[in-house]
Amino acid sequence: MKKRNMKMETAVIHRGYDSKLHHDSLATPLYQTSTFSFADAEEGESRFAGNSGGNIYSRLGNPTVRVLEERMAEIECGQGALAFGSGMAAVNAILVYLTKAGDHVLCSRGIYGCTFGLLEIMNEKYGITHSLVSMTTEEQIERAILPETACIYVETPINPTMELVNLEAVEAVASRRGIPVVVDNTFSSPYLQNPLRMGADFVLHSATKYLNGHGDVVGGILVGKDAEEMQRLRKTVQKDVGGIMSPFDAWLLIRGLKTLHVRMDRHVSNAKEILAFLQKEPSVKTIFYPFDKAHPQHGIAVKQMREGGGLISFEIEGGKKEAQAFMNALSLVKIAVSLGDAETLIQHPSTMTHSAVPEKERAAMGITDSLLRLSVGLEHTDDLMEDLAQAFEKVKMELQEI
Ligand SMILES: *Cc1c(COP(=O)(O)O)cnc(C)c1O
Repeated sequence: MKKRNMKMETAVIHRGYDSKLHHDSLATPLYQTSTFSFADAEEGESRFAGNSGGNIYSRLGNPTVRVLEERMAEIECGQGALAFGSGMAAVNAILVYLTKAGDHVLCSRGIYGCTFGLLEIMNEKYGITHSLVSMTTEEQIERAILPETACIYVETPINPTMELVNLEAVEAVASRRGIPVVVDNTFSSPYLQNPLRMGADFVLHSATKYLNGHGDVVGGILVGKDAEEMQRLRKTVQKDVGGIMSPFDAWLLIRGLKTLHVRMDRHVSNAKEILAFLQKEPSVKTIFYPFDKAHPQHGIAVKQMREGGGLISFEIEGGKKEAQAFMNALSLVKIAVSLGDAETLIQHPSTMTHSAVPEKERAAMGITDSLLRLSVGLEHTDDLMEDLAQAFEKVKMELQEI
């Protein structure tokens, strides 16, 4: 089990950066350059041969991006990290790395809509199949393994239903079978959950969300527990597929990441207050929040997560009409996909993030037309609750009129 060298709260601010190497600049400089010049031809030869550590070309590595990668490896308790231009580029990189034509990917019952789309492409083009399975017990996972299963790919909590995957059970089966495990840790952030410490081989993030936290970057991070393997990934699916992160986005992420722990604490405390508010609202039919005692996998949640996070999904009484009327009645809460920003955001998964998932699969994932997903931001909860309360009231009035 890999431990951090320093506390996470310190690592998000300091790890991977030495000001002495950068003219004593306190902030990490932005190396906005595509390429690096060599002193002479021999130095170029030596860098390409890997005999001297210097920079070559920004797709192969950039000093600003490298600070972010080192920092992320540390805070996710890994031995190496790679930054990508989007969360999906990170998902693509690891799936391409771990699979070949004819393989099978065993997935948690719900996965991010575009991850599902990518698996469909891989199925059509390369015959790589996948199955979506509940993973709360070892038996469920064991039963779903096929001879051609090349990796177990899970998200937990699952977007947007907050169903949990039992990481301990996944690890038990995967280690018996020698199958690598990939965890999409976007919803928890490294502050609330560290799958590499629970036996996962790779963790990935849409850095667009909590890691950046300010709604102004699209990016992805892949962290691995084996340094050599991460080097192989860097030289293949990062360098040759090329979905790299730009230095500017890395620079913004380094800035955003410094407050991860402070922001997450507030996201969590705000979410708990909003949860209590929703529990009292008669128009709310069901609530999905990992640390809600009524959550079916509450026991798993408290075992593997430090806190329940900043996302709450709930079903409103009625269907699509009521869900959309509620969203339209909000004013402070913005209607937008994405999550983990300072602004509180609401979205309607069945017509937005998961609209591309066929209806049958959507139903199996538990995504109904009355389901709404709230990403609780950093505003004062009094203002948030006032907005939510007036919107519930407005929906009731409107529907009485019809
Ligand atoms: C947003 C998201 C992704 C995709 O990340 P992008 O940065 O949008 O490419 C993957 N997984 C989860 C859980 C997400 O929320």
